[in-house]
Amino acid sequence: MKSLEDFARAKLRRLDAAETRRSLVETARDGAVTVLRDGRSLVSFCCNDYLNMTQDPVVRRAAQAAIETYGTGAGASRLVTGNHPLYREFEARLARFKGTEAALVFGSGYLANISIVPALAGARDLVLADEYAHACLIAGARLSGATFRLFRHNDVGHLDEVLAETRPAHRHCLILTDRVFSMDGDLAPVPALAALARRHDAWLLTDDAHGAGLRPPDDPADVPLQMGTLSKALGSYGGYLCASAAVVGLLHSRARGFVYTTGLPPASVAAAAAALDLIEADPARCARPLAHARRFAEALRLPKPDSQIVPLVVGTPARALDLSARLAQRGYLVAAIRPPTVPPGTARLRFSFTAAHEPEQVLALAEAVRTVQAA
Ligand SMILES: *Cc1c(COP(=O)(O)O)cnc(C)c1O
Repeated sequence: MKSLEDFARAKLRRLDAAETRRSLVETARDGAVTVLRDGRSLVSFCCNDYLNMTQDPVVRRAAQAAIETYGTGAGASRLVTGNHPLYREFEARLARFKGTEAALVFGSGYLANISIVPALAGARDLVLADEYAHACLIAGARLSGATFRLFRHNDVGHLDEVLAETRPAHRHCLILTDRVFSMDGDLAPVPALAALARRHDAWLLTDDAHGAGLRPPDDPADVPLQMGTLSKALGSYGGYLCASAAVVGLLHSRARGFVYTTGLPPASVAAAAAALDLIEADPARCARPLAHARRFAEALRLPKPDSQIVPLVVGTPARALDLSARLAQRGYLVAAIRPPTVPPGTARLRFSFTAAHEPEQVLALAEAVRTVQAA
């Protein structure tokens, strides 16, 4: 189809001009923190496998055993014939870990958010989200058909104003925020948000994609909707919601991304369960990523980080891409993050630290960053 080809090519030219075109680069994992790219070994500081669980022998064996027992796929929606025995145990385990009554797993974190929000809010309702909330929370809010407003990043005063103005005209209200912001690494002011939510009879959802396994869970009395992913510190694939039994029961019938999609593969569930065991058994492992982030920030005199994610805002996409390329020449894989993932003018390098990095690697990275920045 000529019109389709013309459309795609014109769009690509525009993305190229703005230096925001994305492309895939073949990159093989090669151990806990190293990758192979273009035949070279690089130390990766851009992976969300914060506890290196994807490479852990215990986690791998659990996934292999689940394949041997249950096969490679769920075969259907869990409501039809796809509810293999691992789910019940894992969901109970996850709920216990988070301190909630119940839990529900989804095919991914993205799928969880675009399913949860429309299941809980509709045309007569209000959805408010932090302006830096993850793209899938925003997508869920739009899909819901509710009135949707953004509040300024981590600005409880602004949220209060927006609530005062908009809450009375709506039936229910959902407040959405990342708990650890994915591109900035800062934390949401959860207790203050919870107090506000209570005052305005609003339901607070925190997205703990970058926190689960690395910091203690939110208090369920503050946060009735605790969402997260199995794909980051848990080293597997999938998403989840931890909530009350009634909310989870409702989602069994109403979350379209649960009802109308195939259940998670057994190996993914078993791997996440094994990772959860390792997390509970080894607090020292879980503390290492943040310690590395602080070591790195201190070496570069950056603000003290609250999480394992450290942004270095450099401005234009071209500058971020150039610094990333020069770090790769020195043996480091660091992602250049560009708009629309982050606001215009705030293109950045995003560093993420994992348990298996060594302090010397972190300090050497800081030195390399200093050098490429000066050049
Ligand atoms: C990664 C991420 C998601 C999506 O999770 P996946 O399991 O990768 O789909 C959702 N929210 C936030 C904040 C994330 O960083």
